[in-house]
Amino acid sequence: MDPNRDAKAPDEGYSDAAKGVIAMARFAGARGWVPATSGNFSARIDGHRAALTATGANKAELTEAGVIDVEIFGSKHPRASAEAPLHLARYRNAPQIGAISHIHSMAATVLSRRHEKTGHVRLEGWELLKAFSGIATHETVLDVPVVSNDQDTDRLADIVEQRLAMLDSAYGYLIAGHGLYVWGANAAETIRHMEAFDFLLSAQLHEEGPR
Ligand SMILES: [Zn+2]
Repeated sequence: MDPNRDAKAPDEGYSDAAKGVIAMARFAGARGWVPATSGNFSARIDGHRAALTATGANKAELTEAGVIDVEIFGSKHPRASAEAPLHLARYRNAPQIGAISHIHSMAATVLSRRHEKTGHVRLEGWELLKAFSGIATHETVLDVPVVSNDQDTDRLADIVEQRLAMLDSAYGYLIAGHGLYVWGANAAETIRHMEAFDFLLSAQLHEEGPR
């Protein structure tokens, strides 16, 4: 049987994924989570390709011109951002992931640095933990991994993937002093998870207070 028999035509698959990337980017951009052209967004097209934001694009006003078609197992796309390896490593290791957002929201950035030595930010007892797929009660402890920042993003992706491989489930992770990676089965779920993380990390930051 032809393995591509049920697959969408390539352009249609790319177009759907690019729409998801634009939706995530504009959502984050409207909330001030990707200042100064930072942040990046991607959506899986199939087992081998993903749509990804090109480097430097203004995410709040992203259009399809700012989205590129990249190979998950291939060599680096000339317009890919330096953080592309962190997206692609997730797609290689987690087939259930359909979309990924990377944002520099204030609460994520502050808490990630504060909890770098502990290696995680603990979110516990908040009702909004139920916004994450598979969590049904506020009586939940979610330890969000924190890894140290590294400008060598291939090396950083290896460290992240080793860390995530030890966990039963994860919705995202923090890079210290940098920001948040968050994912879901598709762009809509990733937007929900991104909004939940921002709310929960903001609540956690308020509860901890200034230091
Ligand atoms: Zn970043």
